[in-house]
Amino acid sequence: MTRKTPVRRTPWPDSSSRAVVTPLQPSVVYASESPDALDAQYEGGSPGYTYAREGHPNADVLATKIDALEEAEGGLILGSGMAAITATMLGLLKTGDHVVGGNQLYGRSLRMLAEELPRFGVATTMADPTDAAAVEAALTPDTKLILVEAVSNPTLRVSDIEGIARLARARGILLAIDNTFTTPRAFKAFEHGADVVIHSVTKLLAGHSDATLGYVALKDAALRKAVYDTAVTLGLTPSPFDCWLAERGLYSFELRYDRAEANAAALADALAVMPGVRRVLYPMRPDHPDHNRAASLLKGRGGNMVSFEIEGGRDAANALVRAAPDIAFAPTLGDIGTTLSHPATSSHRALSPEARAALGMSEGFFRVSVGVEYAGLLIEEFCQAIAAAAS
Ligand SMILES: *Cc1c(COP(=O)(O)O)cnc(C)c1O
Repeated sequence: MTRKTPVRRTPWPDSSSRAVVTPLQPSVVYASESPDALDAQYEGGSPGYTYAREGHPNADVLATKIDALEEAEGGLILGSGMAAITATMLGLLKTGDHVVGGNQLYGRSLRMLAEELPRFGVATTMADPTDAAAVEAALTPDTKLILVEAVSNPTLRVSDIEGIARLARARGILLAIDNTFTTPRAFKAFEHGADVVIHSVTKLLAGHSDATLGYVALKDAALRKAVYDTAVTLGLTPSPFDCWLAERGLYSFELRYDRAEANAAALADALAVMPGVRRVLYPMRPDHPDHNRAASLLKGRGGNMVSFEIEGGRDAANALVRAAPDIAFAPTLGDIGTTLSHPATSSHRALSPEARAALGMSEGFFRVSVGVEYAGLLIEEFCQAIAAAAS
């Protein structure tokens, strides 16, 4: 006699109409019809999923959306931005290779180059990416890959991508661009000579500080397979729920970006004339040190990040943050709401005060990731906070 048991899966109800929203598929395993069918899937003859570490539909839906923005094919979604960088490095490099990285990369990227890769016999050198001659001087006969960001954190310097791409192309070195800050809205990295494009999807693409994910796209199919295999073996898998959240965030990415960018430009101009503000860094302002390069490379897109420096030390910095309680003081970027970070106590705390000063980051230096609030409200909040810091 057969009995019904809740242990067995209940079939999904049939519907002649389709759900409008992407379904969330948390299944780790996929059941096949027969060994022949499974065999055909593994051989690539028929599409389908087998085990979520190797891929799942929510990651693929998200990858397809980011591919369209980056004009890429076959992009991979990983468990974090750092997982994307890890998969790239460990998938493409071997002992004896050499890597050149920008000297103002994201903090953990710098740490991977300075501390992790050398443990596996990959030598690394950091160079100033705003100066192609400095990057050239760092190359060795073993250099396999150059990793740069188009706009640096937090001083918003603009890299000489054209010069670096020329060097890489002439010597057959892979150029990997971390496009997190600039996003494909402002910068299409493949059009500028990138072989590898990397994102922390966590930031502007997902946009709501509720999903940690990464993305990597590679021009060359064999290299893509190498990175994919490494990611699957090392388990750099993204969560389906995070992918689902990020896909939802992407629907409004372009609107969010444009609004945040317009706000950032307005805030930068307002900060520049506020008493107590020593300097403002925004790539589209004529007083930015890389203004001309930003204008040509980013085609007039200044992005949503603004940095500024106030008079005074730590006390003034504390007063500013306390006087802006509605602006999250949090070391992230790309959230829908404005966030404020203080590099001296967060991203650049490992540096000595002298090293920070050399990079132009005093105790009064702040970075703002501008969100989509009303510009007038933001300007008012900063105006009050800076006045509080000055008094
Ligand atoms: C945040 C960030 C990363 C790392 O991404 P996670 O998702 O936090 O691992 C890498 N590069 C840049 C430029 C970032 O801002």
